[in-house]
Amino acid sequence: MTAPREAPAAREEYGKPLPQPTDVSQPFWEGARAGELRIQRCRDCRQHVFYPRSMCPLCLSERLEWVTASGRGKVYSYTVIRRAMHPGFQADLPYVLAIVELEEGPRLTTNIMAAEPEDVSIDMAVEAVFEDVTPEVTLVKFRPSEAK
Ligand SMILES: [Zn+2]
Repeated sequence: MTAPREAPAAREEYGKPLPQPTDVSQPFWEGARAGELRIQRCRDCRQHVFYPRSMCPLCLSERLEWVTASGRGKVYSYTVIRRAMHPGFQADLPYVLAIVELEEGPRLTTNIMAAEPEDVSIDMAVEAVFEDVTPEVTLVKFRPSEAK
């Protein structure tokens, strides 16, 4: 990602709920901080896994490893949020809450950025972007893919 990043707000200025990394999810958040979308892969059944967990949901193996995903995916489902459920999101309205299916298979809940809500569609190609929201926290969001 070569796009310049906006300077992150101080924690107290962000005004939205922040993630609380756990021992299990910490590598995901460290990856985001480094501009990488990191997900888990099972060493036994070879399937990719997301959200972060300590056991493979497919074969129950505990042999999960962290890998860097391509960051590419497609919109599996989405909705347009027009009424903020938390005051911190008021200024973002309307915004797109989406489920993105990664190239590697797992789906994650995220936002589609840099697109008008009416420009978003099911199966639209998207790519990960990394938003530094505080000095400590980077969120993974998606935007329409530049690749044709
Ligand atoms: Zn497995």
